[in-house]
This record gives sequence, structure tokens and C-alpha cells, in this order.
Amino acid sequence: MTTETNNPGKTSYPSVNLNLNVRGLTPSATLAINELSAELIAQGRDIFKFGLGQSPFPVPRSVVEALKENAHQKDYLPVKGLRELRDAVAQYHGRKHSIQCTGDNVLVGPGSKELMFLIQLVYYGDLCIPTPSWVSYEPQAHIIGRPVRWLRTQADNNWGLMPAELEELCADDPDRPRLVILNYPHNPTGYSYGKDKLRQLAEVARRYRVVLLSDEIYGELHHAGKHTSIAEYYPEGTIISSGLSKWCGAGGWRLGTFTFPDNLHWLLDAMAAVASETFTATSAPIQFAAIKAFVGGPEIESYLSTSRRILSALGQHCAAKLRDAGLRLGTPDGGFYLFPDFGAFEYELRESGVSSSEELCTHLLDKTGVATVPGSAFGRSKDELTLRLAYVDFDGAEAMRAADALPKEAALDEAFLRRYCSRVTDGIDRLHDWLSSMRPQTSFQLESAVRIRRRA
Ligand code: GLU
Repeated sequence: MTTETNNPGKTSYPSVNLNLNVRGLTPSATLAINELSAELIAQGRDIFKFGLGQSPFPVPRSVVEALKENAHQKDYLPVKGLRELRDAVAQYHGRKHSIQCTGDNVLVGPGSKELMFLIQLVYYGDLCIPTPSWVSYEPQAHIIGRPVRWLRTQADNNWGLMPAELEELCADDPDRPRLVILNYPHNPTGYSYGKDKLRQLAEVARRYRVVLLSDEIYGELHHAGKHTSIAEYYPEGTIISSGLSKWCGAGGWRLGTFTFPDNLHWLLDAMAAVASETFTATSAPIQFAAIKAFVGGPEIESYLSTSRRILSALGQHCAAKLRDAGLRLGTPDGGFYLFPDFGAFEYELRESGVSSSEELCTHLLDKTGVATVPGSAFGRSKDELTLRLAYVDFDGAEAMRAADALPKEAALDEAFLRRYCSRVTDGIDRLHDWLSSMRPQTSFQLESAVRIRRRA
């Protein structure tokens, strides 16, 4: 809404009455880098698109067919979602994660991102998120005006949340209502928790009765196919977030799901009430098609195992290459992200005028054409030289066909990756070569670099 300024005799400009929480907000970092990459490519630059985390794989054929068959579905659907889809999602979690639930426990929305916003809108607790964390959790809390508490993590633990860190935060004010978001396989690091760690985290969550939002959107992309939901260990307090975007290659279709335990039904109802006043219902044809994805079957399982096979080989290749170049990072367990730390090059980067993760990304884009997202967008301090890299710039359909033509047990070797994921391997080579060229050349540079590293 606009209002006229009261300034007689002068040109009057409309002034926009912006909510204070939204003033100064800029577009989400993941979407901004995607748009910038597209612009640079249109200008003729050779850009490696490692910014936006979008699945490289096509939507499975049977799911596309289901969408075609349901293009005529034109009616508004129930606000909580199509009954058959809600049932299929509940059965999916029962089958995959041994979760006891029915379609009544499921809420469908236009992307899990939207559902995350709604839960923060209706739930009165603090938002507690580990750092680093996906770029939009914190801005959503900020828009709504909710306090955010960051949970510390360590690079030595692959940036995973340790039970002691959660305990420390909760013990500070034991009865305070909290919404804790746990996300794994992790965006931005690729790390995933083992069963023991999940059990320990679940114990702490139960002791302090936190509402745990388990963002498992990359669960099916656990490289070894060994994803476990923390809802198995804390069923009464865990909401599982999932959707079609990552494992079904359908980010642009916008369909997400939340699965609630019985005793958080009130939260599902409150979110549905807000949904009824905002987006009304998720797109009907997409919901009908999504039934096929969640019901699954041999075609979907084979699609998933090929996706994992490719991502696992590629993730390991990229991580090894970047470590060889001198960066600090772990080998990913799942998903398609890496979160390297350039701290070992602090001296050389400072010499080039780079002292923040944002400057690092801009510099990298300029020098190598590799587009990435700065660590600061994931809640890290501005001067920490970390960034996220999504190894997704390749033709997933072609890579899948080639992998499927090989014997199931054959490893996807470097020759395969260089042939079918060449944009990724080339971009990583560029980074590697650029880092190698930055290594100290003179003894004075070497001494200064050693001094800085000792201090770090
Ligand atoms: N989740 C993806 C990412 O982290 C893209 C979608 C988004 O951020 O909205 O890059």
C-alpha cells in the first residue's frame, strides 16, 4: 500500500509503509547468486553454477507422466492437502523411517520453505539453529520478529551439532519454549548424523521438551542410502520436513510436507488456519503427481540409487581435490554441498584485498568463474573465510543414463566424472589451479603466511 507524502508545492513521492522487520532485507543469497550467474552467462562469461542448490537430475519419468495425466485437475484442494497424498506421505515415513502415523499427521504446502515460515509464525518459541545453517531459517525468523539463538558447532566435528551444545543452550533457561531445527544431510556441509549421535540429541531434546523440526529434505540423498530420522528416537516431539525438491528433482514444482506427531496436532491446525488465509492450497496437479513419488516403487528406488551413486562419487572427488589444494573440509555423507574453509590462504587472500566470505565469493567469481554462496549467509561470522559450493552443474539425465549402462557394482571413476560431470570437475580444477597459483612464492611471503596461520 502507498501513501502520498504531505509536501505541498514539491513533487510528491509515494512512500511505502514497510514493516520494520522487512526494511533492509535483500533477496535470499541462494536465489541472488543464481540470478547473478544467469546474468553473467547472458553477458558471455563462462560461469560454473555452484551457487543455487538445485537437483541436477530430472523428475522420474512416472512422476512426470502422473503430472501430465493430472493437468486437468483444476479445483481448489483441501488446505491441509489432498487426502491420498497425505496418506502416501504417512506411509512413506512408515516404510522408510518406521514412523507410526496416518495422513492426519501430514500437512502439504507449496514447498517446505513456506511451511517453515508458517511454523515460525504460529509457534511462540525461540528459533534455535546450529551455525552454519541453510540461508533462509534466520531471515524467516527475522521477518516474523522471532528471537534467534545460534547453536555453536565445530569444524572438527564436521560442523555437526553436538548434544553438549544443545544441552548448554537449553539448560540456560530449561522451561523456555524452543523450536530447534536439525537438518541432515546438511545444507551447507553435506554432513549427516549417525544413529548414536541422533539418539543422544533426541535425549536432550526430550529432557527440555523442545519442538524439533527435522529438515530431512536431503534424506533420500544420503550417499550410502542410510538416512535415519531422529523421529525414530524422539517421536513425540519431532516434526519431519520433506518434499519433492531435492530427491525427486522437482524444486520448481514447489511441494513440501511436514509430518507431525499426534501431540503437536494443534500446531498443524494452526498452520493450516494461516495457510487457508494465505496460499489456500498447494497446486492441484502437482499434488496428484506427488502421490506417485511418495508411493514409490522399483523405478523410484532405482532412480534414487543412481542419484546417490553419482553424487557420492562426485562429492568425494571434489572434496579430495579441494583438500589437495589446501582447503579444509570434510567428505560429504549426503546431498550435494561442500563447505570449504579457506583459512589456510588468509594471508594470500588479504594481500588481494579479501577479508570476508562475501569478498571471497566475489573474488572467486571474478578470478575463476566459480559461483558460490558466502559462509556469512549461513550464519558464520563475516570474516571467516568459508563458502558453500553446490556440485550440481551437470546434465543429470545424461549422467544417469551413462551410470545405468554400467554394471551396478562398477565404481564411477574419475574418467566417468570428467566425461559426464565435466562442468563440476572443470570448475573444481579451476579452483585448484587458482589456489595453487596463490601459494607463497617468496620466503618473505612464506614467513608472513606462517605467522598468520599460527595466530589463526
Ligand atoms: N535450498 C536450495 C539452496 O540452499 C535452493 C532453494 C532455496 O534456497 O530457496 O540453495
